[in-house]
Amino acid sequence: MELRLDGTHYPLETLGPGKRLGVWFQGCSLACAGCMSRHTWDPEAGTPATVSAVLALWRRALADGADGLTVSGGEPLQQAPALMELLAGAARLRDGARRHEGSAGPHPADLLVYTGHEPGELTPERWTALGGADAVITGRFRVAEPTRLAWRGSANQRIVPLTPLGAARYAPYLDRESPGPRLQTAPAEGGGLRLYGVPLRGELIALERRLKQSGVALTERSWRP
Ligand code: SF4
Repeated sequence: MELRLDGTHYPLETLGPGKRLGVWFQGCSLACAGCMSRHTWDPEAGTPATVSAVLALWRRALADGADGLTVSGGEPLQQAPALMELLAGAARLRDGARRHEGSAGPHPADLLVYTGHEPGELTPERWTALGGADAVITGRFRVAEPTRLAWRGSANQRIVPLTPLGAARYAPYLDRESPGPRLQTAPAEGGGLRLYGVPLRGELIALERRLKQSGVALTERSWRP
């Protein structure tokens, strides 16, 4: 199955526990004020990919000992069939790798999905699309509700564990700060810099200022209209 992606990154260490494969779906019509990923809004932008190509990345990440998969965007539910297929395939590969290892690893890798929909907006169809995840982080980004909660950008966002693995992995962080760094940077394909994670209020402006002081002027920023 085909889908449109904003990108992928491994190892991602700022959106969920441990070392993860990050997959960003392209397209989001929710248009939160203050969104740091405006480049993911246009459903026709990004790059075409296939679920099997993403699963090949996941297979490699598992072989490297990844702690989990994080699917974000954009809004993954705007490509619900591809999301469902990706989650089902990722669980199959994870469980297969686990059987092969004889459960020797420290813990199975978990599957986490970000959606901008609030819990009350999650219809049965949307829950079905999310059903393969171990945990979901719900809710719009609300710029007026800053938070230090782990892996969340605003205080309304909720971590919802969906499986025993999700509960074991995420319950300790429902009301806690992130155990690791909140932002990581990496060179972007085609030049520029990519930021992964959830900045604190004012952190992006501070980063722009620091870069400017070091002689690096940003010409485009995904968090500016
Ligand atoms: S914060 Fe997330 S849900 Fe909101 S507009 Fe940006 S990508 Fe969409």
